Amino acid sequence: MEHRFERLTPHIVIMHAEHETDRPILAAIAGQRRTLLLDAGNSPAHARLFREELQRQGLELPSLLALTHWHWDHSFGMAAWNLPAVAHTGTAEALKRLSALEWHEAELALLAAEGVLNEASAEHIRLEYGDAAQVKVVPPDVVFDQRTVLELGGVTCELTHVGGDHADDSCMLYVKEDRVLFVGDALGPSVYGGPRRYSSTGFLRLLETIYAYGADWIVESHGVPLSPDDFRRELDPWERLARLVDVFGKDRTRVVLELKDYLGLNELPRDLSQGVEYFMAGV
Ligand SMILES: [Zn+2]
Repeated sequence: MEHRFERLTPHIVIMHAEHETDRPILAAIAGQRRTLLLDAGNSPAHARLFREELQRQGLELPSLLALTHWHWDHSFGMAAWNLPAVAHTGTAEALKRLSALEWHEAELALLAAEGVLNEASAEHIRLEYGDAAQVKVVPPDVVFDQRTVLELGGVTCELTHVGGDHADDSCMLYVKEDRVLFVGDALGPSVYGGPRRYSSTGFLRLLETIYAYGADWIVESHGVPLSPDDFRRELDPWERLARLVDVFGKDRTRVVLELKDYLGLNELPRDLSQGVEYFMAGV
């Protein structure tokens, strides 16, 4: 996979997302004094791939780790890196709970049944680890509430708590000098504990937050880095959908009709009609 890794900007190398086992984007952000790793990966194997590539390229290995949120695919690689980790209080609480568990198949099935995880995540964990007993969860070391700044030496990273539907503890990381905004999964729907949900006001608030940065690159953890123009183009139907739900609420027929009209389509593409259901669940 030659396109697995990419130098995004002068200070940032990323490993792209991989969907078979839900691996999110990982980033190494290099300052003169320190290299920061953003998100730990979903397993030691995922972590190893990125570390080996950084070594192959002769780059400084990370000496500090920051998390976008607690979800397994972003955090379960932490033990393998063994780095001081910075995370939101909500992230720390969730990981503390998971680190106290005895991990094995029955526990994993229980977590999925209880809605702490879901069946899809449990399946991805089985696929990634082979055996759930191999999972090792560790809590972060440095905890913050609203915002923290990591000075890497000529490179400034702002880690800001934004919350949202996907996870209460969602944070975004902005690399000032390179004008890159990592939004984690913040724009996603809720995924655990019931049907997937979007709240229209929450979604619009997050979009506004993202646009206010004026970043040159916007990076969603399970997507590809996008220019602001591409991001706006991609998110435009979703923004319109959220605005329609804000106005018409539970009136699904009207929302769908107006959205089709706006897009000039007879049928909504699959992802958008699924999106309508997430928003309806969140009204
Ligand atoms: Zn997530």
